[in-house]
Amino acid sequence: MMGQLNKVNKSLSSLRIDYEKCTGCGKCAEVCVVDGVVLEYGKAVFNIKCKECGVCVLKCPENALEL
Ligand code: SF4
Ligand code: SF4
Repeated sequence: MMGQLNKVNKSLSSLRIDYEKCTGCGKCAEVCVVDGVVLEYGKAVFNIKCKECGVCVLKCPENALEL
């Protein structure tokens, strides 16, 4: 359980999204194979399934993501 919590904290702290830049285009969700990011209210939101692989960071057309 503790390991799981640590993983969540790590995931939340290392993948950053600039909500000023995110247009909600959905490209990140499209390229993610583990459903680590979903759109909520027109913005990308990451969850604990994210493996921090960085694929969506490279694919975001707005450069809104940072790992
Ligand atoms: S690809 Fe970038 S701009 Fe598009 S929804 Fe994801 S974070 Fe937002
Ligand atoms: S970093 Fe990788 S695993 Fe995480 S949301 Fe982006 S594509 Fe999915």
